[in-house]
Parts: sequence; C-alpha cells; structure tokens
Amino acid sequence: MGQSRKISSESEDSNLNSVGLVVKVKPMAEIKTGDFVVPGDFLATAEEFVPGEGAHEEDGKIYSSCTGVVLLDARTKRVSVFPRVSGPPSLKGGGTVIGRVEEVRDQTANVYIGVLKGHENRELPLPNLGTVHISQVQKGYVKDLHHQFRSGDIIRARVLSAQMGSIKLSTADDELGVVVATCSRCRTLLERENSKLKCPNCGNVEFRKLASDYRQGAL
Ligand SMILES: [Zn+2]
Repeated sequence: MGQSRKISSESEDSNLNSVGLVVKVKPMAEIKTGDFVVPGDFLATAEEFVPGEGAHEEDGKIYSSCTGVVLLDARTKRVSVFPRVSGPPSLKGGGTVIGRVEEVRDQTANVYIGVLKGHENRELPLPNLGTVHISQVQKGYVKDLHHQFRSGDIIRARVLSAQMGSIKLSTADDELGVVVATCSRCRTLLERENSKLKCPNCGNVEFRKLASDYRQGAL
C-alpha cells in the first residue's frame, strides 16, 4: 500500500516537471537568472538544461560564451546569457572595470575583467586578465592579501596601465574594491555589516577591501 502511494507521488513529480512547473536544480548549480557571467563560467549541467544563446556545451556541461546576464527559462529548460557587451573598447589607463577575482596569491590578485564601466555594451578583446598588486589594494598597508580578496569576488577597479597581456589594476579608492562576495563556506551572498561581511545563512564573518557601495546600485 505504502509502496503504491510512493509510486504515484513520483509520477506526479515528473508530470509537474514535464510542464515546467517544477525545475530540479542540484545544489551545485547555483547560477540564477540575473547573475553576471563571463566567458567560460559554468552555468549548468546538460542533464538539467539545454544551451541557448550565449551558451555552449562541453563534455556534458554548459558554459557561458559571452559576458552578460544569465537567463534561466524554467519552461523550456534553456539557459542563455543575455550579453551586456558587443564590440571592442580599449582598456586604457584610468578606465574603470568590473572583474572577477580568479586567484589570490601573496603579492597579487588575478582578475578576470568582465565589463568596462561606461562601455557595458561592448565586448572586450579576450582574454582579459588583470592583476592587483598588494601595494595597489588600498591606501594603507596590506599585511595579507587573502584578507582583502578571495576568488569569486566581483570587484570594481581602475586600470593603471594596459599593455598586451598585462593589465595592472588598482582598488585604492573608496568606490573601488569588492562589490559582490559570497561566503567561502556556503556560497551565500555576504551582507555588509559596517566594515565586515556577514553570511546570512551560516553566520560566517569575512573581510574584504570593500567598495563603498558594496551590493548597492549597479556594476
Ligand atoms: Zn555562509
């Protein structure tokens, strides 16, 4: 008796899925509609979604092909990227960029540059990797770069110099620094509490070189 009830509830679930009222998203697939992505970002597995515009499949995984905003269509199970960019701007000194911290080392943070401020509708020549040297993080002395940035952080930075293969960035201003960060324990978006960041999910407290408008306004 119990067994047959279980079977009927499973078939109900799959019916809901087939008309798109329920979308199963595995915990690993944290991408959401509206997320900012850059080329190569993992979006979903091919079991869960099909790639739409601005996305492509590679070995059963779907990645973003462009810089833009993620759109998940629950009905068609299509994941696409709405591009914020098309056409090449130049990365001149003095320009402001939005990027994602890829790796934090002792002396430098490597940053994938996504959007050039004021040129959001233009595509950057790829690849665009920049670095923030420890001396350019903030106006004061920085003892440990790992307390200022972590991989995955979205930062706003100023271009100090841009030559082929070497883009030097600075975050040493109030409006520069981390604009979005996630909890290093549970990946929930961190909320600002004065000079600290706190995880609303697990209570973890973290530090960053924050932009004055952390998680406010636009990129
Ligand atoms: Zn957390």
